[in-house]
Amino acid sequence: MKAKKSLGQNFLIDNNIITKISGVINANNNDLIIEIGPGMGALTKKLKEKNANILCYEIDKDMNIYLNKLIDNKTKVIYEDILNADINEDIKNISFNNLYIVGNLPYYITTPIIKYLISLNLPVKEMVFMVQEEVANRFTSKPNRSYYSSITLYLKYYFDIEKLFKVSKNSFNPIPKVESAIIKFTKRTTLVDVNKEAYFKLITDSFKMKRKTLKNNLKDYDFEKIKKVLDKHNLNINVRAEELSEEIFIEIQNILEK
Ligand code: SAM
Repeated sequence: MKAKKSLGQNFLIDNNIITKISGVINANNNDLIIEIGPGMGALTKKLKEKNANILCYEIDKDMNIYLNKLIDNKTKVIYEDILNADINEDIKNISFNNLYIVGNLPYYITTPIIKYLISLNLPVKEMVFMVQEEVANRFTSKPNRSYYSSITLYLKYYFDIEKLFKVSKNSFNPIPKVESAIIKFTKRTTLVDVNKEAYFKLITDSFKMKRKTLKNNLKDYDFEKIKKVLDKHNLNINVRAEELSEEIFIEIQNILEK
């Protein structure tokens, strides 16, 4: 079958990589794995060895000729756009201990998928995704690196994120234009104490113009308060957002609330 570029179809053909990805997922027979975009089922087949419940979301109904062979009493496929899926409803009759979400994601909607999953507030333990390597770098960046951005901090609010390993272009058919990497999201057990919506606005505003200083990006904020936090950490008034850790952004948000 011809791969549909518009659906981000690059199928995994390297069995070593498939085994390596599956090895990262600690699910057992009492758990539930949600797989996003199973395609021809290369990863699904391997995941089935764990004997967990598996629920797949695949937008392309043409994949049913491959996926039908994998369906049984513990493996289900829903043909739907993941961005419209009512996952909480779909899993409500499945009993499980831990929920894992995995997928070799369609790269054209990586961030929308992750944001959508967060918005559903699922009881997820870990998520393991194949993403474009550059995106993996952005999601896992530390301060003072060029990839550090508001999305890094947004995701960090919910998850500890690790880049596990790179995956060569040659592991796919068709071969994609970009390099890939596997990343693992582990749900943070305690969320940071901050006004979440205001904090997300602060980080978005702080990184609005990357070349500008924090002060220039935060013209509408009470900078006298922010300066107190910068002084405490011996940071210059001309500091840029990319130099600030999560802890400092949280301190800034909390002082702005006072
Ligand atoms: N898991 C397979 C593999 O590793 O070989 C396929 C991965 S391929 C990169 C991405 C898969 O996501 C394709 O099967 C594609 O049809 C599916 N897909 C694309 N957009 C989707 C969406 N909005 N919702 C659900 N699946 C989608």
